[in-house]
Amino acid sequence: MPQIHTLASHLVNQIAAGEVVERPASVVKELVENSLDAGAGAITVEIEAGGTRMIRISDDGCGIEQSELNSALARHATSKISSLEDLENIASLGFRGEALPSIASVSRLSLASRVVDGECAWRLQARDDDVAVPDSLPQGTQVEVLELFYNVPARKKFLRTEQTEYKHIETLFKNMALSHPTVAFKLIHNQKVVYQLPSARGLDDQRRRLAQVCGKEFAQSLVEIDIGDEDLRLQGWVALPTFNRSQADMQYFFVNQRVVRDKLINHAVRQAYQDVLFHGRHPAYVLSLTMDARELDVNVHPQKHEVRFRNSRRVHDFLFRSLHQALAGVHPEQQIESPGFAISQTLDRPLPDQGGLNFSQFRNGDRGSNLREQMQSYASLLNPAADAGNGVAGDTPQLPPLGFALAQLKGIYILAENADGLIVVDMHAAHERIVYERMKQNVDEEKVITQPLLVPLTFNVSRSEADLVEEKIEFFSHLGFAVERLGPEQLRLRAVPALLKNADSEQLLRDVLADLVEHGRSQRVQEFQNELLSTMACHAAVRANRQLSIAEMNALLRDIEHTERSGQCNHGRPTWKQLGLEQLDKLFLRGQ
Ligand code: ADP
Ligand code: MG
Repeated sequence: MPQIHTLASHLVNQIAAGEVVERPASVVKELVENSLDAGAGAITVEIEAGGTRMIRISDDGCGIEQSELNSALARHATSKISSLEDLENIASLGFRGEALPSIASVSRLSLASRVVDGECAWRLQARDDDVAVPDSLPQGTQVEVLELFYNVPARKKFLRTEQTEYKHIETLFKNMALSHPTVAFKLIHNQKVVYQLPSARGLDDQRRRLAQVCGKEFAQSLVEIDIGDEDLRLQGWVALPTFNRSQADMQYFFVNQRVVRDKLINHAVRQAYQDVLFHGRHPAYVLSLTMDARELDVNVHPQKHEVRFRNSRRVHDFLFRSLHQALAGVHPEQQIESPGFAISQTLDRPLPDQGGLNFSQFRNGDRGSNLREQMQSYASLLNPAADAGNGVAGDTPQLPPLGFALAQLKGIYILAENADGLIVVDMHAAHERIVYERMKQNVDEEKVITQPLLVPLTFNVSRSEADLVEEKIEFFSHLGFAVERLGPEQLRLRAVPALLKNADSEQLLRDVLADLVEHGRSQRVQEFQNELLSTMACHAAVRANRQLSIAEMNALLRDIEHTERSGQCNHGRPTWKQLGLEQLDKLFLRGQ
């Protein structure tokens, strides 16, 4: 048996590096986090060969004193916490004091820094004889990491292609840039500037950054969110469900500006979207949750990817409710106003100059009078008194957002004219949505109807699940389940919700129990019921090729306007689109 001995510190650092430094992107993460913690206003990330050859992070933060450069590279040395209380109330991204020594143990690292009033900068080579030399760096810090894993061949073998490693860094960079909008960021790969993002303070600037990082299409189909108070606040953007993805590749979620992956968060978000997204599609969002740091444990993962919420149910419910509400609020008015749909203009907008022939006035007047006529009749619908000889000069009511029907096309689409131009409605999809929302509302308002089972079902569960049933007997009966405990590990089911009588009741109840155990709540019955309603709605909705009268079409347009989530059908496809005059003008090259 070899003797027990203390490991050499270099080896200890390399072992720690095994946890913290998985690949080049992890180095970038740790170093950028340090720059953010140092209060940087601008951060530049330079890499070569996907970060395997060189990673250089420069910032304009507070810098490190010459006398402290060595400590910064020492294990368990940090300026960020000093007591257990600090650990329970962490405001910085780092706190473990192990990133720099770990990285230095598996690469050739140099650290240069200059503090605010420093005469010059000082540079320290991590593995040399540990003497700092003067350097020309301006205020701030620069960390350079060359030849990552040069001394750990086993790790090096696990690195993927340069392109793959670069992609990981790019993803990380995007996360950092989106979670810290006020900081300017730059990414340079193989001497080429890939991203240059100026500091974004106002909302417009933030939208611009969003477009730069996530693409224009995303930035044009957003619902903005800002809900809650300083205790718990959710801010950011979710894409309209119509902008869904086949991959979960555009989902950014930050907790106190920290990039985290969390099952509870994913669950809450998925649930909020379940009604408006087709199975297997993924929503896109950039969301930032802020909360009291004491309600959050960040010390659960060496790379700090995971967090633990002290009151996870509260966070889950808050997220679900906020997002659900935001998505339900997507009414036609908003869609028209949102830039993705917006080409906002009024009736009186002069058309592009026709160069001599004054068509525009004729067309403008023509369109105006037609719409105005319809508005008068719309007014009388809303308020019969308005009809009594109240001439054109009177208070013209607002044109309804989706305007008035013009015609039906191919038995599939309704064409309508509104203030902005042409509206095209997929009549089946729109009607399906309306029927579905209505059925759901009916179900919600009435008491759930219970259907007794012909033969009560007896089945075995775990003791804790049986306890749960006993404890939450009211919850179950509210859902329409009559269930009771027969023995320590046995349940009997006597009745189920009538709407779900053809479902596999035992499986459903088991799934509900599993959810309750894992998340403290369950939406399953609701989900299942909604799925059924959705199928029923699809069958009840108008089929293609049915001729609709203009009055019927107008009624459908009004229904869309007043129905929650009416912009998408139950499968996440759009139910209607706006073709604004500007778009039409472009099609015909008018005024160019
Ligand atoms: P931690 O971030 O957990 O404190 P690190 O090993 O990442 O541990 O960094 C050690 C210390 O070095 C930090 O606590 C900080 O004082 C200092 N430091 C590292 N990077 C920077 C930087 N970019 N600007 C200023 N100080 C830095
Ligand atoms: Mg750190």
